[in-house]
Amino acid sequence: MGWYRNDYYGFRPYVSVAQRRRNAQKHVAKLVKDGRTVSPVTIDGRTIAKTFWGKAWCDNLESYSDFENRLPRGRTYVRNGSVLDLQIEPGRVTAVVSGSEIYRIEIKIKPLASRRWNAIKSQCAGKIASVIELLQGRLSSGVMEIITCHDGGMFPAPSEISLDCSCPDWATMCKHVAAVLYGVGARLDDQPELFFKLRNVDHLDLIKQVGRVQGMTRRGAGGKKTIAAGELADVFGIELEGPTRRQRPASPEDAQPRVKPKPAKPAKPAKVRKPAAGSLPEVG
Ligand SMILES: [Zn+2]
Repeated sequence: MGWYRNDYYGFRPYVSVAQRRRNAQKHVAKLVKDGRTVSPVTIDGRTIAKTFWGKAWCDNLESYSDFENRLPRGRTYVRNGSVLDLQIEPGRVTAVVSGSEIYRIEIKIKPLASRRWNAIKSQCAGKIASVIELLQGRLSSGVMEIITCHDGGMFPAPSEISLDCSCPDWATMCKHVAAVLYGVGARLDDQPELFFKLRNVDHLDLIKQVGRVQGMTRRGAGGKKTIAAGELADVFGIELEGPTRRQRPASPEDAQPRVKPKPAKPAKPAKVRKPAAGSLPEVG
């Protein structure tokens, strides 16, 4: 069978699955050594996003004709563990994706306009009972409609998104960028609060006008109303990333993927997950 491999007939050098995996592991090890907190996207089963926030993110992107034809090529990539690292910060997603080579992706998303955010807040006032229900997506259909509405909702339109990838096939949207866009949906399953961070708004603004949230919030150091991290961590069984922990010290122990929010299950330390054997894509 070796005579027919694409290193003889293809236009680009053939990179075996094993070689890709070695390259990916080497790159992740280097990121960790450089002090980066590496957060790979891991998908259990075939469904990329399962929760309200993750699904709403993916549904929103797929609802635009600009994106719907190009997005599907990213699904295999994100499912097979090619997104080695994905970071979400206000207005920006950065990621490292393994293909024929290692590629860097940057997706910029305009922060939610304050006028739009104010309108959403007043529309949702008194309709969301708690932070827990907000983040778990246990929302009334009315609130879901407000949040997911194309016109005036929280999710970005293509005109608010700019895409970039370091690969040579870069056009409007390559499969690496598409994989990262789906990867954001998967990440929101685990950490829905990152959606609000990405859009540069405070999710507590949506619930703080509600009396029932009293007792769940406390005044933070800056006088800002925040929920006690321990309380949320207890409920979700997750380790929360506080504002003071954004610059973390260089240490291999830091390179741990986020633990999924399974209630009543203590957070377990985990190693950086390697892409599953034989799971890397054939084309780059
Ligand atoms: Zn690319």
